[in-house]
This record gives sequence, structure tokens and C-alpha cells, in this order.
Amino acid sequence: MTDVQVGKGRMSLTVQIMIAMGAGLVLGIILNLIGNDFINTHIVGGFFGMVGRMFVNALQMLVVPLVFFSLITGVAGIGDIRVLGRVGGKSFGLYMLTTATAIAVAIVIASIVAPGNGFVMEGIDTSGVTGSEAPSVWDTFANIVPRNPVAAFANGEMLQIIFYTIVLGIAALMLADRSKSFMEASEYMNELMMKIVEIVMHFAPIGVFCLITKTFAEQGIGLFLPVLAYVLVLVGALLLHLFGTLMLFLKLFSGLSPLIFMRKIRPAQIFAFSTASSNATIPVTLRSVTERMGVRNSVASFTVPFGATINMDGTAIMQGVATVFLANVYGVDLGLGGYLTVIGMAVLASIGTAGVPGVGMVMLTMVLGQVGLPIEGVAIILGVDRLMDMIRTAVNITGDAVVTTIVAKSENKIDMATYEDPMAGVMDDDLTIDPEAEERLAASVHAE
Ligand code: ASP
Repeated sequence: MTDVQVGKGRMSLTVQIMIAMGAGLVLGIILNLIGNDFINTHIVGGFFGMVGRMFVNALQMLVVPLVFFSLITGVAGIGDIRVLGRVGGKSFGLYMLTTATAIAVAIVIASIVAPGNGFVMEGIDTSGVTGSEAPSVWDTFANIVPRNPVAAFANGEMLQIIFYTIVLGIAALMLADRSKSFMEASEYMNELMMKIVEIVMHFAPIGVFCLITKTFAEQGIGLFLPVLAYVLVLVGALLLHLFGTLMLFLKLFSGLSPLIFMRKIRPAQIFAFSTASSNATIPVTLRSVTERMGVRNSVASFTVPFGATINMDGTAIMQGVATVFLANVYGVDLGLGGYLTVIGMAVLASIGTAGVPGVGMVMLTMVLGQVGLPIEGVAIILGVDRLMDMIRTAVNITGDAVVTTIVAKSENKIDMATYEDPMAGVMDDDLTIDPEAEERLAASVHAE
């Protein structure tokens, strides 16, 4: 049995979410066609916007505490600083490799298909688009060490949080027995956070429905036509990377079954698609790789948030295709040097930028500036970017999960029985509260 049916003939959460997506798509397009002021302001932007944002907020509210506590227990679980260094080195190398491959393949495909040749730039307002400076690689690395950890936590600076938490975990390991109660408390907090993830995920069908409805009501489908060639090449390259390159890497480097992987990563992909944020999806990605695939928390607690920040295969693909498209639109020949610059820039830019909605476009302006293409060009593809963002974010988090499982397999930190069990970690109605246990807990609290 797959995760399609759970319990007594009830639909699994994944199926419910998929239905919600389909319904949101239909309703969104209908609302887009009707589109009047009242609907746009109060229904689409108002009601659906509010519920959708509540859902994304609820996911985001979990990210920082979850990363902190799971990483603390992860570091303690590894117990050996050398292994930690090895996991870090392997995942960094693999993240760079997948991103560089992704963009190289995208550039090759886009160069062959050549979207944008003969494009007529009519009715596109290119004023008001401002470029962004590429952050220096040295600054990015220097800032990994937070001057003020509280500020890093408050702002959700993932690399800084990871760094600080690892140092804290290592120091706690050094204090050995003295850290016992701290570790126990962290383990408990980690479990508590995971429980909240489950609670939030139970509201996913509603949240996803509202997010998708809003997106399609605002975007419609007419936006695609002028840049259809760009959209088709981009989506093709994204799908090729998702089902081709990444699955090849998985099979080659770990020997694990891509079919099982794909089935188990689906909920996280849906969340990434609906929220367009790798960061907000961290709790769901973590849950998918640990509880559904059996990756030990000691590896996943590090590689997943690390990947959400530094690994953006889908975003790199977008930058590759967009650069080729805009070079064609403007009739500029970038040459091999130009394309190599694009690859280098995209890989480096992905390290320092967080996985939040729309950040890919900001990175694109850096890349365009670097190879001398007009930055106003982004206005041409801006209209379709939200939807492209959703797809590429799903690709981004799949890359994170692939590297996580490869590293875990190589370190023998994956439970194969869980990986192969189709029902492992499938969410059922396990959110019930046991009234007796509740009373016992209350009584014990009163007694103290
Ligand atoms: N939204 C993407 C992510 O969170 C980044 C981007 O391409 O804009 O991974």
C-alpha cells in the first residue's frame, strides 16, 4: 500500500493537499477571469491572502527553533567532531556539484532551443527595475561567524545560526556529563517542535488551497503567452534536473531507489511549491527525510537547513535559462567566457542568499550586471516569475534532500528498513489528545 490510503479508508494528507491544490488552481483561474475590484481586494488579496499567509507564518515560526534544537541533538548524536567535519565537507561539495551541473545543463538546453530569438518587446515596462550588487564571497564567508547570535536568531540568518549552534553543540560535548540535562531538554524541545510541525501540517490542505487560489487569481494564465518559449524551456530544464540529473546522482552515489525517494519527498515538494520558500519548507523537508526515509537526525539536522540556504539548483537553472533568453532578446553573444561567468556567479550567489520567495530574481540581476546584459530585462520575465519560483523551489528542496540521503548513506546514517517501508512516517490521525494522560499531567503539575 502506498501513502494514498491511510487508516479506515480515509484519504492521506498528501492526497488531501493535492486535491486542495487542484481546487485552488481551478478557483484561482475562475476568480482571475471574473476579477473585479471587490474580489481582488477582499477575497483574493484579503481572505485568501490572509489564510495563506497565516499558514506560511506558522511554518516559518518553526524554522529557527527547530533548526536550533535538532542541530544541537544532531551534533551530540554524531559525537565525533571529525565526522561532523566530514558531513560538512561532503554536503558542501555535493551541493556545489549539483548546482553547477544544473546551471550548465540549463545553459546547454537553452542555447540549443534558443528561446527569445525574434522576441518583440512591446508593452513591457522596463523602467523601475533596479539591480543588485553581488555580495563579495569574502564577506559572505566572514559573516558566517555571527557577531551577535541573538540578532542572527531574530533575523533567521541560517548560516550564522548553524555556525553558532554547532559551536554550542561541540562545547556541550566537551563538557560531557555536565551537559546531560541540557541535552535531554534539547531532545525534548526537538520532539515538541516536530509535534508542532505535525499540527501545522494538518492545516496544510486549507493553507495550500488558499495560497494556490491567490496565486492563480492574481497571475492568470494569459501572462505566459508573450514569454511562452522561456517558460517552456525553463520548466523542461527544471523537470529534467528533477527527474534526470538528481535521480541519477542519487542512484550513482548512494544506490538508493529513486522511485521510493520521489514518493517520500512529495509532501515537501508540495509545500515548497505552495510557499515558494525553501526556508519555510525546512520543517517539512526535515520530517520527510528523517521520519519517512530514515535518515538520522545527526546528518539531516545539519544538511537540510544548510542546503536550504546554500543549495539552489532550480534557481540556478532559472538564471541560466533567463540569461540565454535575454541575451537572445537583446541580440548579445555572450560567448563561452560569458556563460562560464554565469555559472560561477550563480553558484556563488546561491551560497550567500537565503531560500525565500523571489530571491532568485535578485540574484539574476547580479548575474546580468556581471555579464553586461541590461538589468531592465528582468521586467520581461517578472510577470511569470511567481509560478516559476514555485516550481524551482520544489526542485531546490529536492536537491537538498538528495544530497542529505547521499551523505547519510555514505556515513551509514540511514535506516534502510524505514527507507523501504512505504508507510513509514505517513501522517495519520495521531493528533488526538488522551484525556486521561492530560489529567495525569495536570495533576502532577499541581502536586509540585
Ligand atoms: N524561492 C526560492 C527558494 O526559496 C529561491 C528563488 O529562486 O527565488 O528556494
